[in-house]
Amino acid sequence: MLTKAPRGTYDILPEESRRWQYLENIIKEAAELYGYREIRTPIFEHTELFERGVGDSTDIVSKEMYTFTDKADRSLTLRPEGTACCVRALIEHNLYNGVLPVKWFYFGPMFRYDRPQKGRYRQFHQFGVEAFGSRSPYLDAEVIMLLVEILARTGLKEYDLHLNSVGCPICRESYRQELIKYIVPHQERLCNDCKVRYQNNPLRVLDCKQPECQKSIEGHPTLFDYLCPDCHEHYAQVKNYLQENQISFQHDDKLVRGLDYYTNTAFEVHIPGIGAQSAIGGGGRYDGLVEACGGPKLPGIGFAMGMERILLALEQAGINPSLVQNQIVFVVAMNEQYLSPAVKLVKQLRDAGISAEMDYNARSARAQMKHADKLNASLVVLLGEDEIEGGFVTIRNMSNKEQHQVGLAQAVEFINTLLASC
Ligand code: AMP
Repeated sequence: MLTKAPRGTYDILPEESRRWQYLENIIKEAAELYGYREIRTPIFEHTELFERGVGDSTDIVSKEMYTFTDKADRSLTLRPEGTACCVRALIEHNLYNGVLPVKWFYFGPMFRYDRPQKGRYRQFHQFGVEAFGSRSPYLDAEVIMLLVEILARTGLKEYDLHLNSVGCPICRESYRQELIKYIVPHQERLCNDCKVRYQNNPLRVLDCKQPECQKSIEGHPTLFDYLCPDCHEHYAQVKNYLQENQISFQHDDKLVRGLDYYTNTAFEVHIPGIGAQSAIGGGGRYDGLVEACGGPKLPGIGFAMGMERILLALEQAGINPSLVQNQIVFVVAMNEQYLSPAVKLVKQLRDAGISAEMDYNARSARAQMKHADKLNASLVVLLGEDEIEGGFVTIRNMSNKEQHQVGLAQAVEFINTLLASC
C-alpha cells in the first residue's frame, strides 16, 4: 500500500519527464504564437464553483469529484477541469473590464474519480485555452486552428476533427420538447441516471457515456435540425473560415454538450486506434457560463486536451519526442585528496552553463569511468597527481577517445569549444 501510488495515479519518471517537457514546450510556443498567455489557478476551488460551472447534473460533478471539507468546514474540490477555474479568476480580477478578448492557456493536473484504464486516470493532465469576450466566429475558428497547429507541431497526422453546433438556449428549447417525446417510449431501457434526468435535461442523455443509453435512443432527432437562423449562420461562418484556411473537419451532429451554457460551436478531436479513450481533446463555445458563475454576460470559447492521451498517440504513431539531452562533462578526482579541486571545477563548469557531474566518493578511476559512461558523458576530465602538480587537466573525448592536456585556467573555455564539436 505504502509503496504504491494511489489507484489511477502514477509517477512521471525522469526519462518520461523529458517527453512531457518537450510536448509542453511545443504547446506553449504555439499558444503564445496565437496570442494566448499562461494562467495558473489553484488546484482546489470551492465545490460550488464546479457545481455551477460544470453543472451538477453532469457525471463529473455528481460522481467524479474529489471533494473534501477543510478544517474550517468549507467544502473544497480538487479541480476536475480548468474552464470553471479560469471563469472564476476572470470574474475575481474584473478582467472583463480590460482589453477583450482575454486569451489564456493553462497546463496542470486535473482530478476525477473515474474508472482507471488505458488513457484514463484519476489524476491526469490537461492543456487548455479559454478566450473570453468575443462572439465572433473568427474566434471559434482561431481556437480550432490553434488546436490543429499544436497537433501539427507534435507530428500527429492521423486524427479526426469533429464539428457541430449545439445552438443557443432559444433554438434548444423547441428541440428539448421533441427529444423528450422521442425518449419517452424508450425510457425503460435508459440507465438509472438518464431515467431520472431525461425529463429535465434530455440533452444529457445524448452525451451519456453508457452504451445502452446511446443504443436505446438511436435514430433520435438531432439538435442541428432545430438550429435558429442566427446559429446556422454562425456555424456556416466557422466552417467557412476553417475551409478557407485548409483545416479539415467532419460535421458530426451527434456531438453534443448537454449543458445550457454551451452554445454554438462544439468540437472534438479523436485519434483512431489509441483504444477506447480515443478523444484527445474537445471544446466549444460557452456564452452562458460566465454569467452562470456569477459574472457579467460575457461570451467565451475554449478547449482542453489530455496530455497523457497525446503522448500515448505519439507513442503509437512511432513519434518519440524528447528534448535533446544536455551534454554532460564528468569530472574524475583520482584520489580523495583531489575532491576539493574537482568540486571547484564542477562549479566553474556549471557557472559557465555546462552540465557537470562528479563522484563525491572518489571511487576507483575505473568505477568512475563506468559511471561517466552510464550518464552518457561527452567528456571526462581527469584530476590526478600529475594534473594537480602540473596545474593542468586531462580531458578525454568519450566518443573518439582523444585526450587533451590543458592548463587549469583555460580548462572551462577549452571544454566549451570541445563540446561544440562533440
Ligand atoms: P473533458 O474536459 O472531459 O472534455 O476532457 C478533455 C480531454 O481531457 C479529453 O479529450 C481527454 O483527452 C482528457 N481526459 C478527460 N478525462 C480524462 C481522464 N480521466 N484521464 C485522462 N485524460 C482525460
